[in-house]
Amino acid sequence: MKRRLFLRRLGGGALVAGATLGAGCKPQDTPGQAQEDGRGSFRPVKWKMVTTWPKNFPGLGTGANFLADLITGMSGGRIQVKVYGATELVPAFEVFDAVSRGTAELGHGSAYYWKGKSEAAQFFSAVPFGLTAEEMNAWLYHGGGMELWKETYEPFGLVPMAAGNTGVQMAGWFNREINTIEDLRGLKMRIPGLGGEVLARAGGTPVSLPGGELFTSLQSGAIDATEWVNPYNDLAFGLYKAAKHYYYPGWHEPGTTLECMVNKKAFDALPEDLQAVVTNAARVANQDMLSEYVARNNQALQTLVDEHHVDVRKLPDRVLERLRELSEQVVGEIAEKDPLSRRVFESFQAFRRQVIKWNAISTSAFLNARSG
Ligand code: CA
Repeated sequence: MKRRLFLRRLGGGALVAGATLGAGCKPQDTPGQAQEDGRGSFRPVKWKMVTTWPKNFPGLGTGANFLADLITGMSGGRIQVKVYGATELVPAFEVFDAVSRGTAELGHGSAYYWKGKSEAAQFFSAVPFGLTAEEMNAWLYHGGGMELWKETYEPFGLVPMAAGNTGVQMAGWFNREINTIEDLRGLKMRIPGLGGEVLARAGGTPVSLPGGELFTSLQSGAIDATEWVNPYNDLAFGLYKAAKHYYYPGWHEPGTTLECMVNKKAFDALPEDLQAVVTNAARVANQDMLSEYVARNNQALQTLVDEHHVDVRKLPDRVLERLRELSEQVVGEIAEKDPLSRRVFESFQAFRRQVIKWNAISTSAFLNARSG
């Protein structure tokens, strides 16, 4: 409610400011391209945001909407952002190319979708047994991660920003019990990125599908299992109707960062204050999405268990141990792919080693003490 009020205030301000600016301006002749109007003021621009999510999908799609509204509101209407759901303007997995070539100025997705563009991109999304949301943000903002991410996207004419985090995900929905690592053999599962590589090492078959195709694929038996996000999002897709067992924890995505990529030409053409608006709007959205997930997951888990009688299970420790060993192999091999991937890997691993020690005597110790 508070957020809605805040946005309404921002939106109201945007309309007034937009009207004032617009009244003295000629219609813009170069959509998306920021320009001074010759009198020192800035012509409003219309930006498109393409996304890898179904339009208005809880958490992810609404997170993209929230960011778009923030940019529009905080810029006083000088940047007006319109959001497109997956396939409305371009298919989910063409978001990267669309923003790179300037079809849209903004893209909302997650970096592990783009490993075909750059192996290093995967570190900026989710690494199996990697960093939690809190740790990812620490690495990105204060541990050198963001500089490396910018370097990774620079050749594609893109400026990356962290724009949300799901927190720890669930291991997923399975139509068979997982009691030993052998039970993953032959399993056809939707699981993207590095988690998918690890599943392949364990003898399974990883499949990459956009979110909108999960339910029917699982229900029809085209796949045996799928991970998606966590209770809030998984409830929204009705996945409990298509699979029997709901396993945790999401070893493959311990704190997945969502991204907002900006077309670099469009970003560079903005005056400094608007660059700061875009950058800091993303930073607000990054924190807000995590807060929303934590709050909504609690409620959604209760609904899944109490109303839909979902069988929630922990993956056996020995399965997790084997997955951790395989993950170390898979993640280590990315470092061998190219020099940039090696540098990103080394930065990530050094940060991870340190933060594991600190969190062992802070967050982990407290959570263990609290649960008794
Ligand atoms: Ca996931």
